[in-house]
Amino acid sequence: MIINKTGKIIDGLFMLGHSGVPVYLLDGDRPAIFDAGFSCLGELYVKEIRKVLGEREPEFCFLSHSHFDHCGAVSIFKKHFPGIKIVSSAKAKKVFERPNAIALIKQLNKASEPQVHDSMISQGEVNDFSRFEVDLTAKQGDVLTISDNTTVNVIETPGHTRDCLSYYIPEKKILISSEAFGVQDVTGHIYSDFLVDYDLYYNSMEKMVPLETRVICTAHAFVFTEKDAVDYKLNSLSACKTFLKLVERLLGEENGDIEKVKLRIKAAEYDGKPGFKQPEPAYLLNLAARINVVKKRMGEKKE
Ligand SMILES: [Zn+2]
Repeated sequence: MIINKTGKIIDGLFMLGHSGVPVYLLDGDRPAIFDAGFSCLGELYVKEIRKVLGEREPEFCFLSHSHFDHCGAVSIFKKHFPGIKIVSSAKAKKVFERPNAIALIKQLNKASEPQVHDSMISQGEVNDFSRFEVDLTAKQGDVLTISDNTTVNVIETPGHTRDCLSYYIPEKKILISSEAFGVQDVTGHIYSDFLVDYDLYYNSMEKMVPLETRVICTAHAFVFTEKDAVDYKLNSLSACKTFLKLVERLLGEENGDIEKVKLRIKAAEYDGKPGFKQPEPAYLLNLAARINVVKKRMGEKKE
C-alpha cells in the first residue's frame, strides 16, 4: 500500500502534521518521534502528537539530518515537551552549533510558509525557527529501547548529506529511511537526492535493501507498506542509476555547463509537476549540488 495521508499507518505508528513534511510517531513505553518538519507547522505537530499520546509525552526526537525541513520544529517540541531528548548524528550536532547554518535554517523555514499555508491556518499560533541543543548523539549500531519489544536501531546513511541517519525498528520491520532513499512525487518519479556523494548515497541505499521491511517512512509525502515497500527500495536504486546516466549525458552535450544542465533537468523533473514539491529555491540549490557531484565524479573517473 502507498499512504499519502496523515494518521495511523499501523498499530503504534503514525504520520502526523502534513504528509509533505511529516513527523512520524512511534508509540511505546517511551514514545519517539522522528524528524521535526517545518517550524511553521510546529503547533500542528504538537496538537496531533497530543491527540495520540494524551497526557504522555514523547521521550525522544530522532533527527535524520540537519536540513531545515527536518529540524524546523525542534524548539517548539522542547517548549511543549520539556523532557524530550533530541537525538542526531555527531556531524548534525556540529552543524546545529554553527551560527551560519542556524541563520540559513531559519531563513528557509520562513520561506516555506506559503507552501503549507492551509495547514498553518488550522493551528493558530505560528512560530519561527529557533536554535536548539542536541541532547544525544547516535552512531551506526546504537540501539535505543522504546518498549520491551520495540527498539530503534541506528543506521548511518550518508550521501544526501554527510550527517544522515536512518532508523530501523526490527521487531515491527519499520524503516524510517527519511531522505536516504529517493523522494517520490505524485507521478511516481523518484528524485535521487545525492547532495554530497553519489557512491556514498548508493551504498547507503544498498545497505538498507536487505533489511526485512513491512513499512518504509520516507522523508516527504509517502509511506510504503508490504510489497510497495520492497518495490520502493529497488525503484530508488534504479532511479539513482538512471539519474546519474542522464546527468552524465547532459553534461557531455552541454560541455560541462552546469547552468544549462540545471535548466534541462528542472524542465524535465520539476516544472509543471503537480502535488507537494520542494520549494523552488531549495530545489535549485539541491539540483546544482547533484549535478556538481556527478561532474566531480566524472572528473575523478577520468584521472
Ligand atoms: Zn534533506
